[in-house]
Amino acid sequence: MTSNYSLEELIKKLELSNEFVSNNIDLNSNFNFKANKSFISKIKKGDLKDPLLLQILPLKKEKKKVANYVKDPLNEVKNSTKNNLLYKYYGRALIIISPTCKIHCRYCFRRNFPYENYIINKKNWENIFSFLSSNEEIEEVIFSGGDPLTLTNKKLKSLTKDLETIKHLKRLRIHSRIPIILPERIDTNLINSITSTKFKTIMVVHTNHPNEIDEKVYNSNKYFKDSNITLLNQSVLLKNINDNVETLKKLSEILFESGILPYYLHLLDKVEGSSHFEVSEKNAKKLMRKLLEVLPGFLVPKLVKEIHSKRSKVPIDLNY
Ligand SMILES: *Cc1c(COP(=O)(O)O)cnc(C)c1O
Ligand code: SF4
Repeated sequence: MTSNYSLEELIKKLELSNEFVSNNIDLNSNFNFKANKSFISKIKKGDLKDPLLLQILPLKKEKKKVANYVKDPLNEVKNSTKNNLLYKYYGRALIIISPTCKIHCRYCFRRNFPYENYIINKKNWENIFSFLSSNEEIEEVIFSGGDPLTLTNKKLKSLTKDLETIKHLKRLRIHSRIPIILPERIDTNLINSITSTKFKTIMVVHTNHPNEIDEKVYNSNKYFKDSNITLLNQSVLLKNINDNVETLKKLSEILFESGILPYYLHLLDKVEGSSHFEVSEKNAKKLMRKLLEVLPGFLVPKLVKEIHSKRSKVPIDLNY
């Protein structure tokens, strides 16, 4: 059920031509190819411009050095000295809770993150716990990664049960792409393991294109809704994938239909290897102004970027 394709299997299954492969694909990328069958089943055979394919295909052009594109655009390695904890924004502490993902998105700002040094163990969990306990202004814990839902239900339950004992914590937020790419993972056991606490739970999923949401995703979201988990979505604005009004409009609409509200639309973080996904800030603003004209306000995500020294995501002024 959860199995992955190798890059060779993907090439064969989608009937990508030998010529295309030898000219464009990087068969030995440091950030290796990874995608599961569920996600790949939504890709159209032979379509080199498929918006889901473009998100996962390792390309030779990722190797090109581009000015301003760096290994760790958000300075996270430097900022995460407290073990796996990133405490940058007031009241919300983010924990790199899992080192793995079920998919490798080529534009991921953590594509170079040295996860092997950030695996949760008893020792660093104790440190995280004592940091959270002694900072009373922290009301929300964010599980991030990697993908938190790669952890077992048992592990998720024991971590959340631990956190529940901290008096001032109120909310548990989970940032995960799994509800979209592996909806089979969502079931009653998982829901029980993340909701059997005092916390108000928020699930922030990550979807960039309407084709990612199929009937299975739609159906699995019922589990979240039935247990009053708030569902939000973040997207990255990606060239040739979702950088047009029709796609973004359709994405918001289909998210809403399946019970998810648009939250953030991120400008690309300038991580090495991702420059071919960049949409200029000027074009992003233009898109947003048009989007505001064709959608109800509550279906328009906030356009933001990250500036590593800032204390929140930075909203982009649309210059009205
Ligand atoms: C994005 C982010 C958060 C959450 O920010 P919100 O604006 O509340 O969604 C928290 N901590 C870090 C380090 C982040 O990058
Ligand atoms: S699922 Fe999220 S963390 Fe994992 S590679 Fe994709 S964008 Fe990065």
